[in-house]
Amino acid sequence: MPELSQRVGRFTDSVIRRMTRIADSCGAINLSQGFPDFDPPREMLEALGRVAFEGPHQYAVTYGAPEFREALVKKHERFSGLRYDAETETVVTCGGTEAMMCAMMAVCNPGDKAVVFSPFYENYAADAILSGAEPLYVPLVPPDFHIDTEALRAAFAQKPKAIVICNPSNPCGKVFTQEELMMIAGLCEAHDCFAITDEVYEHIVFEPYRHVYFAALPGMRQRTLTAGSLSKTYSVTGWRLGYLLGPAEAIEAARKVHDFLTVGAAAPLQEAALAGLALGDDYYEGLRALYTDRREYFLHGLDAIGLKHNEPQGSYFVLADISDILLRPAFSGMDDLGFCEWLAREAGVAAVPGSSFFREGGGQYIRLHFAREEATLKEALKRLARLNDGTV
Ligand code: GLN
Repeated sequence: MPELSQRVGRFTDSVIRRMTRIADSCGAINLSQGFPDFDPPREMLEALGRVAFEGPHQYAVTYGAPEFREALVKKHERFSGLRYDAETETVVTCGGTEAMMCAMMAVCNPGDKAVVFSPFYENYAADAILSGAEPLYVPLVPPDFHIDTEALRAAFAQKPKAIVICNPSNPCGKVFTQEELMMIAGLCEAHDCFAITDEVYEHIVFEPYRHVYFAALPGMRQRTLTAGSLSKTYSVTGWRLGYLLGPAEAIEAARKVHDFLTVGAAAPLQEAALAGLALGDDYYEGLRALYTDRREYFLHGLDAIGLKHNEPQGSYFVLADISDILLRPAFSGMDDLGFCEWLAREAGVAAVPGSSFFREGGGQYIRLHFAREEATLKEALKRLARLNDGTV
């Protein structure tokens, strides 16, 4: 066979999604890939049933059905205060994943640099490679994951084309403060740099933290591409509905990438999702309350079994520290990847090895998520308790 593309040789498949396959193959409780095990809002399910018979079943406009785009920008304005033009300033994509890829491809030339915080959601490394950009990693320093300001300034001194900001952050659950975002905004302004933001967890933020939309900061709307998604907000990760909002010129570029990559997101699902976008404020309060409960339940459970962890401020992920466990004879020579395989196959809980989120290191962590029914979390905690009951 002739040689395959070198570009594709530079990254592996997603470890997160690989862990889901391992979980499925051995029947482990899947706390690796982040998606809920509860139903989307009833309104959306009823709409989906109606759409089955009433359509549409053919292509929507490549960059999103007009009604869906209108509803999206309205809903976004409700929370961010920013008004985007549905006709020119948004593109509907196959999930936030495609939105991020389109954004990177739209702004980066091969050889450009892109600032990425570490730990980071693993897609960004592949996004950078496929768009030809070289990532400049800037540490978020545990345990509170504050920005290494010196490293950030040094990265900006290298004239990056874009900075990727995942807020609330996957995997560390950090919610960037207004001050931190203002500091980043100042650097973007000073160095004429784009911001590409992944804000798919915008509605999963715990008290007293608040989500600040980066594009809403002074001067940032014109240099920010905001990726959003319906996946987490409406518990429809399989519907693959995401979007990008930004200035018309950049969106026009992103639309070209999107058009030739996927043509469009599923037309019937855009139609059915209108029912979600029309939900009132009580829905979002309910979602926050639900995840606040799950977070409390799960973190207390981890405390009870003596598994050290960070304190997520947003998103539904938590990093558990396994460094002490890896020192035990039973795990001798095992890294975090091996440990996660063991955990899935032997203890029946799937997690993501921490090293897949860090530029360097991260092997002392595993990422778990709590987007699960309480009974499922209870069983998962029971199984995780085996780590500290003296048997391994
Ligand atoms: N964001 C989710 C996670 O980190 C999964 C997203 C995906 O697999 N597309 O687990």
